[in-house]
Amino acid sequence: MQPLSIPDIEALRGLFARSRRVGILSHTHPDGDAVGSSAALAAFLEEALGKVDTKVILPDPPSRTLHFLLRKGRTIIASESPEEATAWIESCDLLVLIDANEVKRTEQLEPLFAASRAEKVLIDHHVGPERERFGCVFSETEVSSACELLFWIFMSMPETGGDASKLPAVSARALLAGMTTDTNNFANSVFPTTLQMASMLLSAGVDRDALLEKIYNSYRENRVRAMGYLQSEGLHITPSGAAYMVATKEIIGRFDIREGETEGLVNVPLAIDKVKVSVFLKEDDGFFRVSIRSKEGWSARNLARLHFHGGGHEKASGGKLFFPEDIASPQDAEAFLERVCEEYMK
Ligand code: 5GP
Ligand code: MN
Repeated sequence: MQPLSIPDIEALRGLFARSRRVGILSHTHPDGDAVGSSAALAAFLEEALGKVDTKVILPDPPSRTLHFLLRKGRTIIASESPEEATAWIESCDLLVLIDANEVKRTEQLEPLFAASRAEKVLIDHHVGPERERFGCVFSETEVSSACELLFWIFMSMPETGGDASKLPAVSARALLAGMTTDTNNFANSVFPTTLQMASMLLSAGVDRDALLEKIYNSYRENRVRAMGYLQSEGLHITPSGAAYMVATKEIIGRFDIREGETEGLVNVPLAIDKVKVSVFLKEDDGFFRVSIRSKEGWSARNLARLHFHGGGHEKASGGKLFFPEDIASPQDAEAFLERVCEEYMK
């Protein structure tokens, strides 16, 4: 990662200092990095900078296993409380978008963002940041996660002086949680700075074992059974090495799969030698949510852009597949995947 610019850090501190009411936004279907980075920033603004009028506004709820990171009374889930989300965003004088490169990843919040005259800050680690919509941009792709970028921003501020033990405990824990989930527990996108961050946070007293219990060992039984089913009955591998699985509404209903419970499943087929790309589809209303992972030399991102209206990182991307626009009906998903994956692998 490039060293952060001191003038940029000073500009950000200036914006924080001048703000009276802050809204921190992140992407739809928020993952650990989205929830962790936004919660860490909110706690830092409050506890280190005294900005008590701060709220995190998420388009929809994260998985149950991440709820421990949401701070009570400090988080608005827009799909559950749309009026509250609207009122807060309309009254903010500072909006921060974190862990998303484009405002449209906030889905229904985009028009509110567009209408707002607040100062706007972007803190993100994806390629292609939408710079023109923000007055202040921290965009760095050579980091594991938005949590890592935010950690190094905090370490560059006089409030910490580079000492992680000066972070609010809530921020420290949330940062380690989000970095852990975005690296798939140190399996992907780990940079020297990532391990340095982990070391500093552990030295500062974050209880990593307790975090791992909450994140990875707190699922319901049905989740393990559903994963087993999808990996045996539901796994297809094309001749040229693309794996795909489709969780239809029927399967979701049968196993009572809830939000976030299929998280991580898309990675599993990459354990097979011949599999180069793995695609996972989960049915929603009128579309499938698409997750794609790839091995070195194969671009998940290009596949997401070409066929699924999406994007993301080189080896971890996502998007959507609409019906009846892209495929006539949900039943056609497997045939579509077989065709586009084979085409793509050529
Ligand atoms: P996941 O498979 O974990 O949902 O997403 C993997 C990556 O793809 C994340 O970095 C996420 O930001 C990105 N991503 C997921 N869905 C979309 C999408 O619809 N559009 C874009 N541009 N990126 C996405
Ligand atoms: Mn992220």
